[in-house]
Amino acid sequence: MADCIFCKIIEGKVPAKIVYQDDLVVAFEDANPAAPIHILIVPRKHIPTLNDVPENDPILSHIATVAKKIAENIGVAQPGYRFFINVNKGGGQVIFHLHAHLVSGKDIGSKFIKGAISLAVAWRKLVAKLQSKS
Ligand code: AMP
Ligand code: ZN
Repeated sequence: MADCIFCKIIEGKVPAKIVYQDDLVVAFEDANPAAPIHILIVPRKHIPTLNDVPENDPILSHIATVAKKIAENIGVAQPGYRFFINVNKGGGQVIFHLHAHLVSGKDIGSKFIKGAISLAVAWRKLVAKLQSKS
C-alpha cells in the first residue's frame, strides 16, 4: 500500500527500531510509547484491520507466538505484559495496517529492559553488517 506508514517501515523506506522479523511479521518499537516497553508486531502483508483477516489464516497465532517470544527475550514474560489489537476507529485504531501492541515495563526493571532491547537491536545490526561483508 503506497500510503501506509507500516508498509513503508516494512520496506525499509521509513526508519524504525526493529526488534524482530521473519517471513511473516516485523516487530518494532512504537514511536510514541505508552509505557517503557511498547512494541508493535505487524504482518508483512497489508491487512487493514483484524476484521479483514480471513478465517483460519495463521497470521494471528503467529503474531501471538512472536509476542510471547519477544516478551521472553526481553524479560517481561514473567512480570507480565499487555497484548492487544485495536480494531477500527471506535476501537482506537489509528494506523490501518493490522498490528498488535506488546506493552509492559512500568516497573523498576524497565530501564534495564529498554537497555537490553537497544543492545539486542545494535547486536543484530552489527551481525547483519558483518554478514553482508562476507
Ligand atoms: P493503533 O492506535 O492501534 O492504530 O496504534 C498505532 C500505533 O502506531 C501508535 O501507538 C503510534 O504511536 C504508532 N506509530 C505511528 N507511527 C509510527 C511510526 N512511524 N513508527 C512507530 N510507531 C508508530
Ligand atoms: Zn500497510
